[in-house]
Amino acid sequence: MKIHEYQGKELLKKFGVVVPRGVFCPSVDDAVKAAESLGGKVWVVKAQIHAGGRGKGGGVKVAKSLDEVRQYAGQILGMQLVTHQTGPAGQKVRRLLIEEGADIRKEYYVAALTDRATQKVAMMASSEGGMDIEEVAHKTPEKILKVFIDPIDGLTDAQATQLATGIGVPADSVAKAVATLKGLYTCYMETDASLAEINPLILEGNGDIKALDAKFNFDSNSLYRQPEIMAFRDLDEEDPDELEASRFDLSYISLDGNIGCLVNGAGLAMATMDTIKLFGAEPANFLDVGGGATTEKVTEAFQIMLRNPKVKGILVNIFGGIMRCDTIATGVVAAARVTHLSVPLVVRMKGTNEDIGKKILSESGLPIITADSMAEAATKIVAAVS
Ligand code: GDP
Ligand code: MN
Repeated sequence: MKIHEYQGKELLKKFGVVVPRGVFCPSVDDAVKAAESLGGKVWVVKAQIHAGGRGKGGGVKVAKSLDEVRQYAGQILGMQLVTHQTGPAGQKVRRLLIEEGADIRKEYYVAALTDRATQKVAMMASSEGGMDIEEVAHKTPEKILKVFIDPIDGLTDAQATQLATGIGVPADSVAKAVATLKGLYTCYMETDASLAEINPLILEGNGDIKALDAKFNFDSNSLYRQPEIMAFRDLDEEDPDELEASRFDLSYISLDGNIGCLVNGAGLAMATMDTIKLFGAEPANFLDVGGGATTEKVTEAFQIMLRNPKVKGILVNIFGGIMRCDTIATGVVAAARVTHLSVPLVVRMKGTNEDIGKKILSESGLPIITADSMAEAATKIVAAVS
C-alpha cells in the first residue's frame, strides 16, 4: 500500500527526521490560508498523488507571493497529472501540500528497502539526489552507495556515517545526516514498510538536513497490525478494478496485455501468465479466484476482466483440487451468459470432476473453446486474439 507525501512526512517526523513545516490542503482557499499561516516569502505548492515524478510533470511549483500560491494551487488542483509513474492517463490531483520554501544547497537521495538478493534491509544513498535519480541508477550505478543491515544490530553508527560521508555531506552536518538515516531506518522497520525513500534529502544553507519528499510503500500483509498506516489509505488513488476485486476476495492486478486470465491459485496464475508470454502474447491481468470460488465470484471476475477495453480474449485455467471443476464450469457458463460474452473464451480444466465440468461446458451451447494442456490452451487463445 502507498501513502501520500504529507502522510509520509508525518511518519518521518515522529522518528526524528526533520521535514519542512507544511499544511495539507484540499482547496485553493485553504492553500492561500496555509501559506499565510506558515509565513515567510517562499512556498512550495505540491500535488499529492501516489506517484513520483510530480516535479517533472508540473505538480510541484515554487511560489514567491500569495498570489502565486493561489495561481499554482488553482492550476495543480484538479489537473490530470501525468508522470512516468502514472501511465499516459495520469492521475487526478485532489489534494495539495503547502510548505515553507527550503534553502537548497545540495540534494541527496536516501532510501531503505528490502533487498531480495541478500535477504536483508538495504540502505541506499547518493550524492545525486533530485529528479533524475532513475537516470543516475541506470547510467552511473556506482554513484549509489548501499549498506546491508544485520537485523540484530540494526543500522549502526559506523554504517550511517559511511553513507553520509560517502555521499559528501560536509563534516559539520554528518551528525544530522546520521540521525536522519537512523530515523529513516527505524521508521521503515516499525511501520512494516517495503520502501521508504527521501528524494531529495537536502543540505540547507545553514547546514541543516531536511527531508523534502517522502515516498513509502508498505507490506499489505502487515496492515492488520498497522492501524495508523491503514488509516492513511486513500481509495481515490487505487485502481478501481483492483478495489472492486478485493471486495469479492479476488486477487486481481491490472496489466497491459490483451488476454484476460482467470485462474485458481497464485502459482498457477503466474505460470499461466508466463505461458501466455511464451506463446507470444501478453496477459491483461493477474487473477486468482482462490480455492472457494462460487458462481457469484466467477461472474464478478468475468465482469472485472471485461471492463478492461484491452481484453480481446479470456483464458480460464483451473486445477481442480479442493475446487471442483464442475463448480467452475457452472460459474463460467453463468458468467458468460450474464456478461453476454463476446470475446473468445478458452477453458482448460484438470482434476476433480473434470469430466462433469467439460460436459457442462459443451452442453451450454456457448462457443467455449476447450483445451487439455497449458500449451494447447495458450496456443488457442493467442490464435483467437491475433
Ligand atoms: P517528485 O518529483 O514527485 O519526486 O516531487 P519532489 O517532492 O521530490 O519535488 C520535486 C523537486 O522540487 C525536488 O527535487 C526539488 O528540487 C523541488 N522542491 C521541492 N520542495 C522544494 C522547496 O521547498 N524549495 C525549492 N526551491 N524546491 C523544492
Ligand atoms: Mn522526489
